[in-house]
Amino acid sequence: MSRRCQDLGAINLGQGFPDLPEPAELIKSARAALSGHSNQYPPMRGLPELRRAIAGYYAQTQGLSVSDDEIIVTSGGTEALASTILALVAPGDEVILVQPLYDAYLPLVERAGGIARYISLTPPDWRLPLAALAAAITPRTRLIIVNTPNNPTGTLIDAGTLTAIGDLCEAHDLLLICDEVWEGMVLGTARHVSPLTIPRLRHRAVKIGSAGKIFSLTGWKVGWTVASPALSARIAARHQFLTFTTATPLQWAVAEGLALPPAWHDAHRARYAAGRERLTRGLQAAGYALLPADATWFVTIDLAASGLPADDRAISEGMLAAGVGSIPVSAFYAAAPETGYLRLCFAKQDATLDAAITRLAAFRAGIEGGAAT
Ligand code: PMP
Repeated sequence: MSRRCQDLGAINLGQGFPDLPEPAELIKSARAALSGHSNQYPPMRGLPELRRAIAGYYAQTQGLSVSDDEIIVTSGGTEALASTILALVAPGDEVILVQPLYDAYLPLVERAGGIARYISLTPPDWRLPLAALAAAITPRTRLIIVNTPNNPTGTLIDAGTLTAIGDLCEAHDLLLICDEVWEGMVLGTARHVSPLTIPRLRHRAVKIGSAGKIFSLTGWKVGWTVASPALSARIAARHQFLTFTTATPLQWAVAEGLALPPAWHDAHRARYAAGRERLTRGLQAAGYALLPADATWFVTIDLAASGLPADDRAISEGMLAAGVGSIPVSAFYAAAPETGYLRLCFAKQDATLDAAITRLAAFRAGIEGGAAT
């Protein structure tokens, strides 16, 4: 979608990356680290200073108590996922994936020789269906992968659901990967709960984090895993021969960024909340209906409730022709039926959002008038 937007000169609200000013504090820290610290290999599991900062950040923001030998710094959330999946999945193991799903999960499970089994969140509130989850478990199931806050839906898994997942993991001796890379972008009133705070999951779950998302620096690719020492040892063995380490100066900068006061993080989030508000209001004024969401950089258009045909791929194509890139939510399913939902990224400058709103308003008016399908 990004390439097609570029070719067509369309506004790209498809791929999730911000075009807002980057956090000056982190850029300054990275510059200073280049000249003030070593540029040689850091320790394989990451700089001790960064691992301490990650532990401090989670203690402060999520009430989580983790020691630095439970943290491995990776090259983004993606390498954290890769190291973990390759460590925990053996050929023939079944892995339960929850749709809509982030695109890296399935290829990584398959690369490890695992067999994917699917359950689907239930729109419009995208609840995780616990009965379907229980029914998907077989004697060969080894692992469940969940994502909260969720990309693309922007919804969170509540503590009660996580506790129930913990009970299932305990009863069937399963492990859990919880992709929490969006934990720093909770913009609504909901509270992010990490499975590591659920007692039954404390030694069964691997938490995936990403500085790229916390600081809106997606190109830095600094991420991490948080898991019990025993699980961390297995993950480290994979990480060692995937990337081994991650750029030393950026690790210093992320360590300093994580130690910024809560007010800094609030102000950073507030800029994104304003973008969400702007796009939401503009689209609603143009007759679009959006689903409620608490987190991430995305809003979801409900096509049927917007009075539009439910074929999300066709509508996404139509919007692209009208000059705005989006992602049909069916792209987040392994075998996709049309979903009736479209994802738009609001992490953009006001002028970009306003121009997109104008184009999408004209697109919808054109459909209503029968001029476009
Ligand atoms: N998981 C999810 C749910 C994501 O949305 C992303 C990035 N879009 C990642 C993992 C990957 O994170 P990173 O860019 O740090 O590799």
